[in-house]
Amino acid sequence: MTRGGARAAPPTVVATGPAVPLAALGYDELVERVVGLGLPASHADRLVRACVRRGVLDLGEVGGLGPRGVAVLSGALRVRATTVVERACSLDGTTKLLVGLEDGERVESVLMPLARSFSGCVSSQVGCGAACAFCASGLAGLRRSLLPGEIVEQVLHLADEARARGRRLGNLVFMGMGEPMHAYDAVVAAVRRLTDPRLLGFGPSRITVSTVGVVPGIRALAREGLGVHLAVSVHAADDALRRRLLPVGGRWPLAEILDAAEEFRTTARRFVNLQVTLLRGVNDAPEQAHALAVAIAGRPFHVNLIPVNRVEDAPFEPPTQATLDAFRAVLVAQGVVAHVRTRRGADVDAACGQLRRREASRAAPGSGPAFPPPPADLH
Ligand code: SF4
Repeated sequence: MTRGGARAAPPTVVATGPAVPLAALGYDELVERVVGLGLPASHADRLVRACVRRGVLDLGEVGGLGPRGVAVLSGALRVRATTVVERACSLDGTTKLLVGLEDGERVESVLMPLARSFSGCVSSQVGCGAACAFCASGLAGLRRSLLPGEIVEQVLHLADEARARGRRLGNLVFMGMGEPMHAYDAVVAAVRRLTDPRLLGFGPSRITVSTVGVVPGIRALAREGLGVHLAVSVHAADDALRRRLLPVGGRWPLAEILDAAEEFRTTARRFVNLQVTLLRGVNDAPEQAHALAVAIAGRPFHVNLIPVNRVEDAPFEPPTQATLDAFRAVLVAQGVVAHVRTRRGADVDAACGQLRRREASRAAPGSGPAFPPPPADLH
C-alpha cells in the first residue's frame, strides 16, 4: 500500500523474446504467460473470449485489459501469426482460403456449407509425403509439417469466415493437404487445443481425422482419448492396386488396416468411415466393388464413395454416374452402408490451384508451382 492507502500498481513486466502467437499456447501456458507478465490471470480469459471465440484481431479491442494490459500484452503475444492471403468462392457456397504461414509457405483450408452450419477442412502439412497417385500435392512431396498453432489458426480463419456468413463452424475434418499421421504430434496437440472447453471448446465428436491407412498412427490415435472420429482411405480391396494408388497406405495389407480401424472404433468408441476414391477404369468395376464388400463384410464401417477430382498432371478421370451408382449398388446389396459424397467447390478447384500457382510463380518466375494444392477431401 502507498502512504495514502491506495494499492500500488503491480510492476510492469517487459516481455523478452519474440511475441508468441495466441494459438501456439495451450490454456495453462497462456495463463502462465499472462501472470508472468504481472497481469491478472483473468486477462487470459478475456483474450480467449475475444480473440479465439469472436475473432477479434486487435488487442486494443479486447474489453477489460486496460491500457497497461494492452501495452504489456502487445509486446508478448500476437493474436494471429498466419493470414488469409486469398479466397476463392464456389457457386455452391464452398470457400477455399489460401493461408499464408510466417515462413512464406501456403496451405489451403476449405469451408463447405451444410444445412445450418459449415464444415471446415484443414491441412496438416505443407505438401505431402504420402504420394497418392491422383494427388498433385502428393506427387510433389513434403515441405514440412505444420505447427499446432498453424492448424488451430486455420480453424480460427474458417470460423471467422463462417461467422461473417451468419453461421457457425459445425464440423471439422483433417482432410486437406498432408497426411495427419505424419504430423501426428501437431495434429494431436491442435485437437487438444481446439477441444479444450477453456479455449475454443470445439466438440470432439464434430472432428474427423483422416489417414491413408498408417496403421501405427491409427492404433496410437485410438489411445489418445481425443473423442474424434476416423476416416481411412482404402480405395480398393486389391493390395497390389492399393500400393500403386496409395504408396504409403499400401505398405499395410487392407486386412491389417481394417483390424486397426476396428481397434480404433472399439477403443475410442468413435465412428470409422472408409473412403474410396473412384477412378474411371482403375478401381470402379463391379467386381472390384464386390471384392471390397467381401473385405469389409461384417465390420461396422460406413463407406464414402468419392469420384476423383481432376488434377493437372494426374491421368485420372472420375467414373460415370452410371458406374458410380452400380458400384454403390454392389456394396449395398452385400450389406455395406455406402454413400456417394457430393463434390464441393468443383468450380474453384482450378481457381485455387491457380492462386497457389501464381504465388509460387511470383516467388520463382518460370519455375511453376512448388506444390499445387490438392482439391479438398482428397484422402
Ligand atoms: S491425397 Fe492426401 S494423403 Fe494422399 S498425397 Fe494427397 S494430401 Fe497426401
